[in-house]
Amino acid sequence: MSTPTTYPVMESFATVQGEGAHTGTPSWFIRLGGCDVGCVWCDVKESWDPNAHPRQTVEDMVADALDSGRHVVVVTGGEPAMYDLSPLTAALKAAGLRTHIETSGAHPLTGDWDWVTLSPKKFKACLPEVYPLAHELKVVVFHRSDLEWAAGHAEHVAAECERFLQPEWDKREENTPLILGWIGQRPGWRISLQTHKYIGIP
Ligand code: SF4
Repeated sequence: MSTPTTYPVMESFATVQGEGAHTGTPSWFIRLGGCDVGCVWCDVKESWDPNAHPRQTVEDMVADALDSGRHVVVVTGGEPAMYDLSPLTAALKAAGLRTHIETSGAHPLTGDWDWVTLSPKKFKACLPEVYPLAHELKVVVFHRSDLEWAAGHAEHVAAECERFLQPEWDKREENTPLILGWIGQRPGWRISLQTHKYIGIP
């Protein structure tokens, strides 16, 4: 008998997607442990060490997702693309679930995804091969210079890729007006707010 595929799972929970094009969509989130990107403002630094999180079998992960009643499964991290995600997405799709991922693009992307959120980070470069796979580009704005940095990434994604700027949570008061001014002059860009944080859900 083959060994079941397992992943380090930091947490999994039912919530509502708070960011980007699918804002407001009830979703089951799976946060995989492990990240080597190292963003200074990371709000889930406890995810970085993959050995700090118990491994779960794909079968258990799918069963939990089905139990949640959600039809959309968002795989996030950490940096989930550090792993071969093909077994996970194959099992989720076989169960009739939609597969979404949030990745920095710093690792080759594996798996079968209905929606790819690419959120490149300054701390580890996005691989060129990941840009064309993105359905949405979501750049977190920590500093004013991140606005033009985001525009540079937009040159590499597909024409139909949706583009979002999202104020880093602790900088939202100063950066939200900056973003609003910037997108007002650049058709095709939208603001993404972390609406789950505004309404106090995970
Ligand atoms: S890629 Fe995500 S999890 Fe990793 S350090 Fe950056 S914000 Fe944190």
